[in-house]
Amino acid sequence: MLPGEFDYVRPRDLQEAVQALARYGGESKVLAGGQSLIPLLKLRFAAPSVLIDINRVDGLEYARISNGTFAIGARTRQAALAHDAGVHEHIPTVASASPQVADPIVRNWGTLGGSLVHADPAGDMGAVMLATRAELVALSVRGERVIPAREFFLGPFTTALEPDELLVEVRIPRAVGRPVGSYLKLERKVGDFATVAVAMSLDKDGGTVRQAGIGLTAVGAANLAATAAEDALTGSRLDEPTIREAARLAADACDPRSDIRGSAEYKRDVVRVFVQRALQRAARGDA
Ligand SMILES: Cc1cc2nc3c(=O)[nH]c(=O)nc-3n(C[C@H](O)[C@H](O)[C@H](O)COP(=O)(O)OP(=O)(O)OC[C@H]3O[C@@H](n4cnc5c(N)ncnc54)[C@H](O)[C@@H]3O)c2cc1C
Repeated sequence: MLPGEFDYVRPRDLQEAVQALARYGGESKVLAGGQSLIPLLKLRFAAPSVLIDINRVDGLEYARISNGTFAIGARTRQAALAHDAGVHEHIPTVASASPQVADPIVRNWGTLGGSLVHADPAGDMGAVMLATRAELVALSVRGERVIPAREFFLGPFTTALEPDELLVEVRIPRAVGRPVGSYLKLERKVGDFATVAVAMSLDKDGGTVRQAGIGLTAVGAANLAATAAEDALTGSRLDEPTIREAARLAADACDPRSDIRGSAEYKRDVVRVFVQRALQRAARGDA
């Protein structure tokens, strides 16, 4: 199908971009990689009267340490994250998840910001942001607003971003101790959306867990944080009974739906198995 008619605006800098958003707000859509938006336009599930293309805006693609956080520009391509040495060193959960998003062609275009604002409950990076306790930085003509990832995902394809706000940066706190992380994804074939996936992020001090983050994909109306499991892990030494209890609590936290990919019971058990597996690898030092 062909998209409906729309006007096209191509701002050159952030100021122009937020001014365009202030002017057109809810009538407009930001175009980043287009990997989710273009299919929606073609199917006419989205029919904005204006497209604001941010691909020529300077200063939105980077991944670097900044003020104690790891800062990632919202237009950073998923492929760039998969290959970034700093990402591998400082935020292993992102390094593990990025190459598992879609396929190489989608990753070359798709952006971290687009993936988060699209807020597909089966999207991978939302769970990673929950596990790493990221903060999302929104910009509008009113100024900057910092939104914790845990307050960003409100429901299927729904976020806390206002219609006139542009997502400009993601800030991931750096581990005080050693960062440990992984992303385990069950997919029907390589390149698919997840049937179930689990993001795990630990800040470890020797053998002790200072802070734990567990995000879940495709087992609820939005990406979910398994907070009871995180609490059970915090302060532990990742012994086997604690790992099994955290895995059970994470499985309890999810709310999957039965569909052609599997029953709700099956998906819930995959969450349990993946959380257990990710934590066992972390305990052995392999994650
Ligand atoms: C074949 C295929 C397979 C895929 N498989 C997976 C998968 O396995 N896992 C997965 O997680 N994803 C998958 N995706 C989705 C992919 O990751 C998309 O690239 C991503 O969801 C959207 O990123 P984008 O940059 O293309 O955003 P766009 O499509 O350009 O935009 C998506 C939405 O975000 C808004 N937006 C974008 N950037 C901003 C911004 N900076 N500020 C405010 N609003 C913004 C847009 O207005 C739009 O509403 C797949 C997509 C395809 C086509």
